[in-house]
Amino acid sequence: MSNPRTVRAARGLTLSAKGWQQEAALRMFHNNLDPEVAEHPEDLVVYGGTGKAARDWRSFDRITASLRDLEGDETLLVQSGRPVGIMRTHEWAPRVLLANSNLVGDWANWPEFRRLEAEGLTMYGQMTAGSWIYIGTQGILQGTYETFAAVAAKLGSKKHSGATLAGTITLTAGLGGMGGAQPLAVTMNDGVAIVVECDGSRIDRRIEHRYLDVRARNLDEALELAVRARDERRPLSIGLLGNAAEVFPELLSRGAPIDIVTDQTSAHDPLAYLPAGVAFEDWKDLAAAKPEEFTVRARESMAAHVEAMVGFLDAGAEVFDYGNSIRDEAREGGFTRAFDFPGFVPAYIRPLFCEGKGPFRWAALSGDPADIARTDQAVLDLFPENDHLTKWIRMAQERVAFQGLPARICWLGQGERAAAGQRFNELVASGEISAPLAIGRDHLDTGSVASPYRETEGMKDGSDAIADWPLLNALVNTASGASWVSIHHGGGVGMGRSIHAGQVSVADGTELAAAKLRRVLTNDPAMGVIRHVDAGYEDAERVADAHGIRVPMKEG
Ligand code: NAD
Repeated sequence: MSNPRTVRAARGLTLSAKGWQQEAALRMFHNNLDPEVAEHPEDLVVYGGTGKAARDWRSFDRITASLRDLEGDETLLVQSGRPVGIMRTHEWAPRVLLANSNLVGDWANWPEFRRLEAEGLTMYGQMTAGSWIYIGTQGILQGTYETFAAVAAKLGSKKHSGATLAGTITLTAGLGGMGGAQPLAVTMNDGVAIVVECDGSRIDRRIEHRYLDVRARNLDEALELAVRARDERRPLSIGLLGNAAEVFPELLSRGAPIDIVTDQTSAHDPLAYLPAGVAFEDWKDLAAAKPEEFTVRARESMAAHVEAMVGFLDAGAEVFDYGNSIRDEAREGGFTRAFDFPGFVPAYIRPLFCEGKGPFRWAALSGDPADIARTDQAVLDLFPENDHLTKWIRMAQERVAFQGLPARICWLGQGERAAAGQRFNELVASGEISAPLAIGRDHLDTGSVASPYRETEGMKDGSDAIADWPLLNALVNTASGASWVSIHHGGGVGMGRSIHAGQVSVADGTELAAAKLRRVLTNDPAMGVIRHVDAGYEDAERVADAHGIRVPMKEG
């Protein structure tokens, strides 16, 4: 039930739990529901449509009390946002184990999930909502920045210009928790973006957080602003209030000069996508009253939306799916060419995954931005030869407004993550950083997810839907000393379409933390390297060799 209470993570050095490992879980859990961080904290919804941090407010209170009471050799078990047990384990074991939204294969669909959710038996955990390591829109900003940089490189090589989006217009939709990163990622790459969003309050929020530059009054003004900025090669992001299923076809029929097209509406859940012809104010009531009819209408609209995207593709634009399942929903809605454009992982990200590269992130449990500044410097010192990383850290320092506990993200690969974790722990030990850090990552990572429409789309050996990998990933992180480990189903792309795992490890400055971090931050990305070796990627084999990662099938 909706509850207006305000949750915010504690700051400073005073613990309300019995150790920093437990305190870290408590602060990150509460941080997920900070109004600065969460999209709808009153409903415990963090991001991604209905991704929640706890099942209900009573579960929230019992998780909070359990973490405060938990000993350093005990483990709290959380089943879809509800604390269900506390067990004696040992100090190397995670303090929390979480399993969210998992359903047996044949039952793994939205209607069955919703039935169970309505009965109070489960909740949707998305990726970092139910696993307590969401850090606001910055979390996705780095990945989005990387993706648009890769698009720029591809367009640059086509047009023989540099790796920048200067002089191009990107069209996309959705300014929610994830999608809100798009305008800033485009302007960081020097491009112009038009972002269609049907909820005016999301547009205002992104402007307030400096992720979006301006709000156009109408489509004509949006186009005018975009073309002028493009011609001046000036970065600009423009929010446009409207329904993407109507605006995209309208722009196509006008022959708008769009170079790049994607989308980040909450298409993975048809009830979280506003169909054309439904007033924004009626959305929630209609979806709740007639979910099946609403689903049909949403899918029809997605078909029109994707048809326009394919129209832009035919007209020569660079078009990609941004991980929200809109192609499959559009196919369900009757549009047969929905898969004419690729997902962003096979198009741009897989080579990074082969190197064990993925979204490494950390949060300062002190609440002090100076601690993040110190870690930024540590990353710059550790990897001075990495220009791309340096550019990102400097831009993030300048452009990213922290939401909730100060945090940072950057993509690091095999060897790099362990080095950064060790260094961070030393800085906590020496007092250069004032309190411990929570070091985690998205579930969208190299070896932690099976998701055939996204992270594992088009694997070389056809193993897209094999979900043993994320399960092994969770097990190996549990065995290596992570502070909390999670296994989820359905994140990003919806029920029945993904299985994924997460880990968070706390750098509290102790020798024990150093030993755990060394193992976790080596083994976690190594799962991605071996997953890609197994699928036949030569780049991954090279990385495995360079880092001494043992792959028995390659040894004999
Ligand atoms: P969100 O629910 O916070 O935001 C979605 C936004 O889309 C909302 O603001 C909503 O008003 C808007 N919207 C819905 N229907 C619309 C329509 N017809 N026209 C215009 N706007 C419309 O979700 P989010 O956290 O921003 O995630 C967006 C999608 O991206 C989800 O499907 C999510 O699963 C997926 N996702 C992608 C990645 C990635 O790496 N690419 C990672 C995580 C999630």
